[in-house]
Amino acid sequence: MYFHQGCPMCGGDQHPGTTTFTVDRKTVLVVVRNVPAIVCRQCGEAWIQDTISEELEKIITEASAKRRQLEVIDMAA
Ligand SMILES: [Zn+2]
Repeated sequence: MYFHQGCPMCGGDQHPGTTTFTVDRKTVLVVVRNVPAIVCRQCGEAWIQDTISEELEKIITEASAKRRQLEVIDMAA
């Protein structure tokens, strides 16, 4: 999956890379690092694919169950 039409924000080149995903679920703040994404070289805007989003959702649910204030997860680990 790759966007060949350029970044919708700035028209810059997009390439596969990683991003940091942060979500605040009231009981827990989850930070997921090294999330595979399509990243714009110019403005740094990142797009996460559906399959990765589903995986993120699982990670966030598991992290919420730990009942800690902050969970930092490295997807590359
Ligand atoms: Zn851009």
